[in-house]
Amino acid sequence: MYDCVIIGGGPGGITAAIYAIRAGMKTVIIEKLGVGGQIALSDIIENYPGFPSVSGPELMKHFEDHANNVGAEFKYGEVKKIESQGDKKIIEMSGENIETKSVIVCSGASPKKLGFKGEDEFIGRGISTCGTCDGPFYKNKEIAVIGGGDTAVKESIFLSKIASRVYHVHRRERFRAEKILTDRISKKENIEFMWKHVAEEALGDSSGVTGLRIRGVDGGEAKDLKVDGIFVFVGIIPSAGFIDCDKDEQGFIKVNHEMETSVEGIFAAGDCRVTPLRQVATAVGDAAIAAFKAQEYVSELEGRAYGKS
Ligand code: NAP
Repeated sequence: MYDCVIIGGGPGGITAAIYAIRAGMKTVIIEKLGVGGQIALSDIIENYPGFPSVSGPELMKHFEDHANNVGAEFKYGEVKKIESQGDKKIIEMSGENIETKSVIVCSGASPKKLGFKGEDEFIGRGISTCGTCDGPFYKNKEIAVIGGGDTAVKESIFLSKIASRVYHVHRRERFRAEKILTDRISKKENIEFMWKHVAEEALGDSSGVTGLRIRGVDGGEAKDLKVDGIFVFVGIIPSAGFIDCDKDEQGFIKVNHEMETSVEGIFAAGDCRVTPLRQVATAVGDAAIAAFKAQEYVSELEGRAYGKS
């Protein structure tokens, strides 16, 4: 029986583990693929204190080393469900069940799809949701980027250093990304902005993508952009289907200011929760609070059990 099971090995999960282990809790981190979460796919991070400019994989390496230094235990696999049985939680994984007194959900979020024609057909054959992973395939080629948030703008800037031309397609006439990023992208000469346009169809053949058909949001004639790659950055969906608790309409987990979910003994931190800001810094802060409260919860449970005996 663990004191604390942490679901997710991104910045939030690692922070929760460091705090939980240092508080003396028997802890395990469950991760689906590898440590890092979405941030491991980020090219440059410039707003995590202490690291003026660091790549996602490098920052995560520091996090992982720190977790190993405190003796963190990792398990790899996918969580299917969390069941509450009295004071005990059962984490159902493929092939194994784990018992714990408390759970901290730090499972993050994954890229959203748009649903245009050809999006599923060409994913991995010209359509991508990760510039750092797939950008190098488009050296001196023309590509399209879709979206107007921080991710789309950052990735467009990154990709403009590799591709010869970037068509940046956005449904409105301004980006929602932070000002420092919009100032930076506006200076890029090889990025052409296709304001008030949406993707209609990925064009291609057996070799992969050959173009993107876009149309103005007010209708009108479609335009075919001759591109070899299409990068879609239109937001994220929470990875929280395995937990039954109060959520918002998009499926993000609702917590109070102590990171408690609506289920006693289950806490949530970082991108998977309802929050106004999804950053490494906020995930880390959330997770420290969640681990602190989980430790208080477990001590209280033990106190109750002691009182009964
Ligand atoms: P986001 O901020 O939710 O932006 C999603 C973008 O996709 C918006 O521009 C939205 O358009 C567009 N979009 C959504 N659905 C669409 C549709 N059906 N058709 C066309 N366009 C559509 O997502 P994100 O950029 O992935 O960021 C997620 C979170 O991570 C945010 O909290 C962000 O601040 C954070 N983040 C921070 C950094 C950083 O370094 N500071 C980097 C990456 C991410 P509208 O603008 O018109 O709604």
